[in-house]
Amino acid sequence: MYRENAWKQYETAEQAKLEAFAGDYRRFLNAGKTERECVAQAVAEAKKAGFADLQDIVKEGRALQPGDRVYTSWMGKSFMSFILGRRPLTEGMNIVGAHIDSPRVDVKQNPLYEDGDIAYFDTHYYGGIKKYQWVAQPLALHGVIVRRDGSKVTIALGEGEDDPVFCFSDLLIHLAQDQMKKSAAEVIEGETLNLIVGSKPLTGEEKEPVKKAVLKLLKDEYDLEEQDLLSAELEIVPAGKARDLGFDRSMILGYGHDDRVCAYPSLRALTDYEGMPEYALCAILTDKEEIGSVGATGMASNYFENTVAELMAAAGEEGSLALRRALRNSRMLSSDVSAGFDPNFAGVFEKKNAALLGYGVCFNKFTGRGGKGGSNDANAEYMAEIRRIMDGAGVDFQTAELGKVDVGGGGTIAYMCAKYGMNVIDAGIPVLSMHAPYEVVAKCDIWEAYKCYLAFLKDAKPF
Ligand code: MN
Ligand code: MN
Repeated sequence: MYRENAWKQYETAEQAKLEAFAGDYRRFLNAGKTERECVAQAVAEAKKAGFADLQDIVKEGRALQPGDRVYTSWMGKSFMSFILGRRPLTEGMNIVGAHIDSPRVDVKQNPLYEDGDIAYFDTHYYGGIKKYQWVAQPLALHGVIVRRDGSKVTIALGEGEDDPVFCFSDLLIHLAQDQMKKSAAEVIEGETLNLIVGSKPLTGEEKEPVKKAVLKLLKDEYDLEEQDLLSAELEIVPAGKARDLGFDRSMILGYGHDDRVCAYPSLRALTDYEGMPEYALCAILTDKEEIGSVGATGMASNYFENTVAELMAAAGEEGSLALRRALRNSRMLSSDVSAGFDPNFAGVFEKKNAALLGYGVCFNKFTGRGGKGGSNDANAEYMAEIRRIMDGAGVDFQTAELGKVDVGGGGTIAYMCAKYGMNVIDAGIPVLSMHAPYEVVAKCDIWEAYKCYLAFLKDAKPF
C-alpha cells in the first residue's frame, strides 16, 4: 500500500511477529556497535541458517549447486551471503545491500597523553557528526589492538553494568558566555574531543604519572605496550543499550540505526529465505559508507565483484564475460535509511516527498545534492517493477527525497553498484536525528523493510 500509516493494517498475529523481530533487531544493535561486531554476528547467523563459508568451498575445490547457501566476509569488516537459484548466475541476482559502519569517534594512532593530571585519548571523528552531541555522556570503547606479532586483543568496554565508561567533557555553563555565541560547528571542535581515560597517578612516578598508570593497566589487563596503539582500531560509541521509545513502545531509540536498521533485515531476509529461489539471491553488508565507501572494505572496492567471480567459478560459470553478464543483469535494493520528516524542523522538508515515520519502507529514486549531483537516479521502469512487487506482497511503502531541493543532500552505495549497469534503487526506512548518538526509528518501519526485502528477493525478475 502506498503511503498509509503501517500500524493501521496489522492483525494481532502480525503484531506479535513484528514485536519479536524488533526484539531481535535490538539485540543485534546492542551486540553490533562496530562493523567488525556486525560481521561477527552476521557470520554466526549465517552458519546457524546452514550457510557454508565460500572460502572453504574454494579451498576444497567443491562445486556449487542450485539452492546452495554460502557466505563470506572480507577482512572481517564486510559480509556477503548468497543463495544460488534455479537459473544461472548470468541471468542476474536479486541483491539487497546495506552498510554496517556508523558515525562515531575513532582513537588516533598516538592517542595517550596527560594534562592537568587527567589522562586522555586523542581522537578523530568518523563520518558526519554534530560534535557537540557527543560530549558529557557515557561512551564505550570498542575495537581491536593488533600487536606487532599479529596477535589481537578485542575490546568492548563500557557495555556491562560494572564496566567503566569514558567521556568527553564540556565547558560548564557558568563560563560558557563566549562558547554559547559560537556557531554550532565550532562549539566543540575536533581537537577538543579528548576522551577522559584516567586520573589516578602511579605511585612513585614523577613524570606523567597518570599516563603511566593507564599504561600499567593496559599492560596488566591486556598485555599491551604503548606502541601497540599504533596498530589499533578503537571506536568510541555511546555506551548502553537500545531502548523502546514512547509510552506505546512503538519506536526504538538507539545508536547506529544508520544503517544497521537496514542491514539486519537484509541479513535476515536471506537467512530466513525458504526453498529454492528462481534467481540467485545476495545480501551485502558493507563498510566505509559514511566516509564515501572508500577503502578495501568499502563498496567502491572490488571485493564484491571478486567474490561474485569466485562464486561463479565454483558454480561452473567461469569467465569475465559471464561475470559482467551476472552483474549487469542483476537487480538491487541499496538498503539505506532516509531522513524522517521531523515536525520540529519542518522547514527543511517538502512534506509530500518526505519519508514519514511509521509509513513503511521508503524508496528514494534519487539522492544527491543540488541538481541530483552524485546520485543514482533509478529508472522509471524499475520503479514500476518495485511497485508491482510491493503491492503484490502487501508491503507499506512510500517514496521520498532527503529534504528540500536546495537544502542539502547525501549519498549511498547505490551509484557504485549501478556502475555495473544493474538496476539499483535506494530502499530504507525513515530515521529521526540521523547521525546523532541516539537515533529514532519506528518498529513498524523495520518490519515493513523486512517484508520488502523478502518480497524483493522472492519476486524480482527481468522486466
Ligand atoms: Mn546510511
Ligand atoms: Mn549515514
